[in-house]
Amino acid sequence: MHTAWYRNFQRDIDHCLPMQCSLCDQSCRPSSPDHLCALCRLALPLNTHACEHCALPPDGEEPRHLQSQRTDYANPICAACLSKPLADRALVPLLHAGPAAHLVHRLKFSKGEIEGLTLAQTMLTHVNMLPSAEHPDLLIPVPMAYWPAVRRGFNQSMALASHIAQALKLTVAADLLTRRRGPAQHTLSRARRQQLAAGSFQWRGQRATRRLQGAHVAVIDDVLTTGATAREIIKILRFQGAARVEIWCATRTPNPQA
Ligand SMILES: [Zn+2]
Ligand SMILES: [Zn+2]
Repeated sequence: MHTAWYRNFQRDIDHCLPMQCSLCDQSCRPSSPDHLCALCRLALPLNTHACEHCALPPDGEEPRHLQSQRTDYANPICAACLSKPLADRALVPLLHAGPAAHLVHRLKFSKGEIEGLTLAQTMLTHVNMLPSAEHPDLLIPVPMAYWPAVRRGFNQSMALASHIAQALKLTVAADLLTRRRGPAQHTLSRARRQQLAAGSFQWRGQRATRRLQGAHVAVIDDVLTTGATAREIIKILRFQGAARVEIWCATRTPNPQA
């Protein structure tokens, strides 16, 4: 059994030991929860002044979508979300570009545990700016289809949700939805993604339906691109009784036409 002084000693040792930055591999100290050195942290492309409901940045390909009368950019809303908001709130701290895209790629295709910690911590920094009363009751990671999940042995959305749930003491509900097998999302055009997203998720949380009644939930994914996947899942969760559905992702593709 570890005594208190041993735990403090271990913590102090951990704090002093050099660690590797998840982007440049340089040693950096003191220990940082996001595993980044100061320079790489500054190099991350922040998604600032993004649409409150879909996290689309204002200075991307479609600036005309922003409410032109707003000058303070507090809670900007894009034109598409004025008529049909994607989610009650979208929290996406980074643009999918440069070092942020590299972190996502490493997380997804190389089971990058440290990269997952970096992205989850960046999401947490964003979430921690909210009052704790606004935290969701449940985190729902976007599921993978069965065989791709077996083959890859890793679901990046689940990895992000686990880190966030641990830090905020929230519950992860990973067994409410299943996903039908289809082509890999990153290989598809926007039109094809939207076409295939319809009907690709199925509700299987019959026993959890009562738990979802009136609940505040956040859907967790690595990248928010066209919003087709998020829209499909949000539609199901609302139908099952969720009162408030948010989407929390690590990065946002600035040009969703791609
Ligand atoms: Zn670095
Ligand atoms: Zn929007």
